[in-house]
Amino acid sequence: MNSWIEISEERLAGNFRVVAAAVGAQTDVLAVVKADAYGHGAEVCCVALARAGAKWLGVACASEGAQVRLALNAAGFVAEDAPKILVMCGFMPEDVSAIVKYGLTPVVWTAEQVGWLAGTGAGVHVEVETGMGRQGVRPGAALDEVLDAMGEVGIGLDGMLTHFCAAEVACSERTQAQERRFEVAIAQVRERGLTPKWVHAGSSSSVDNPAQSSPWLVELAKTVGARAMVRCGIALYGYCLPIEGANDGPKLRPAVKPVMTWKTRVVDVREVLAGETVGYNATYTAQGPMRLALLPVGYSDGLRRELSSTNAKPGGWVMIVDKRAAIVGRISMNLTMVDVSAIDGVHVGNEVVLLGDGVTADDHARPAGTISYEILCGVRAG
Ligand SMILES: *Cc1c(COP(=O)(O)O)cnc(C)c1O
Repeated sequence: MNSWIEISEERLAGNFRVVAAAVGAQTDVLAVVKADAYGHGAEVCCVALARAGAKWLGVACASEGAQVRLALNAAGFVAEDAPKILVMCGFMPEDVSAIVKYGLTPVVWTAEQVGWLAGTGAGVHVEVETGMGRQGVRPGAALDEVLDAMGEVGIGLDGMLTHFCAAEVACSERTQAQERRFEVAIAQVRERGLTPKWVHAGSSSSVDNPAQSSPWLVELAKTVGARAMVRCGIALYGYCLPIEGANDGPKLRPAVKPVMTWKTRVVDVREVLAGETVGYNATYTAQGPMRLALLPVGYSDGLRRELSSTNAKPGGWVMIVDKRAAIVGRISMNLTMVDVSAIDGVHVGNEVVLLGDGVTADDHARPAGTISYEILCGVRAG
């Protein structure tokens, strides 16, 4: 293996507890494990989160839900004790058999989707469109149509949810407008005498955002006799988006700790003389004698090419025996050079931290013009 990831189940469980404490006892935390648990490995993470007390897990699609259910079963989480699994990003008619077989709870927002579930007796969560403009049904006639369809085919309303488009903006008017629209939908559900068990909204940023308060959600859930819930992903893995325009500090950082460590080994160490160039297009010229270590990873493994350096522009770095080693020249498809001139005793076989303590997913994301989420999902260890 040219590179591998190590997952700290202890930190994952610790982060879950930090988030649970931040939202308070009146609100449940749905742990999002979609996209292979943000690149951390859904099978390991879902079990660790279940052990930490997660009652709900969120996946993108039915096949992920099946994989998570089998992992939970194998770990002994069966029947009533097992976490529930929410399929958040839609499904197709051919997924219905897996939804039934693995006891998954789909998010629905159209009468057509409800029709596909006819005869299964499945419980569903209905997503309300309040401003995300992605999935969800608008309050009013459209929501009535979905709820009517559920009544006709005997599909139970287990939950109601919405998703905020600007949760990381403090005091966002968009979020406030979304809250008002969600209240309209919940009032509609109440008028019909329906009693969902969960009402959920918000993500890691909602918990981290000092301007957002969970009492709103708790009160709203109470109006239909439901539990409040937030859906958290990135914070469980130890990262947070910056909160825009907040006066107070965020609530979660730095209490949450990165869960993933991505490692490789030095495959060669070479001495370079002054004036020699390194890598494609010779973008880096040694200004004096240097000792460089060769790493067997590159952009095909998810090490972003934007971390490359030139003499004029420093790039990213890796950690070798707890010291920074700067990336030298261009990152190639499968190889990367790093400067170990100032680190004594580096030899072939030395472990190298590509991402983890000392070099975070945010450090990778910044020069790449992206967010920690994409970096974590993009790690292809192996
Ligand atoms: C991914 C996702 C989340 C989790 O978002 P984080 O920012 O990672 O906490 C919550 N809700 C929905 C619907 C999602 O798709």
